Amino acid sequence: MKQLEELERFRDAYDLVKERLRVSIVCALTGVTPHFVKSMWQDVHGELSKRGQLPTSVHVFIKDPSTAAHLSGFVAYCKSKHPDLRSAIAARPLLDAIREYRWLSGTDIDITTAYYAVRDVAANIVEWRYCRGCDVNHLYSIRRYSMRGCPFCRLTVTKKAA
Ligand SMILES: [Zn+2]
Repeated sequence: MKQLEELERFRDAYDLVKERLRVSIVCALTGVTPHFVKSMWQDVHGELSKRGQLPTSVHVFIKDPSTAAHLSGFVAYCKSKHPDLRSAIAARPLLDAIREYRWLSGTDIDITTAYYAVRDVAANIVEWRYCRGCDVNHLYSIRRYSMRGCPFCRLTVTKKAA
């Protein structure tokens, strides 16, 4: 049994690397060593994995309402599958959710960014706020201008103005 579990961890790491999830997160989610994940990355992508510090939160990635809307959609999808969002923060649930959400939404959402969005909502680093206008929840944070309002409302306004 132990060997099967090992195999599964390596298969998860391989799939996460293929999706280009940052190495240290792959290690944290699978327990596979950084050394191994890095060499896996080189084999899969033919280049060295990205170095440098990881961002501290999802704020860094959200520069416009469109990204905020896509990530809010992804978190909502994860919440529908995992009412306790913490259980979505594991290798297989994350991989499944990202593939399904891409297929359903037709958007190419980045896995590292998506991981941060789910993790930060689960950890209350960003707020999961309800918008009465749209009748949906969205990522909300006072810390970043592009996260201070409902991204769906903003996109609707932009569309009307255009
Ligand atoms: Zn709204």
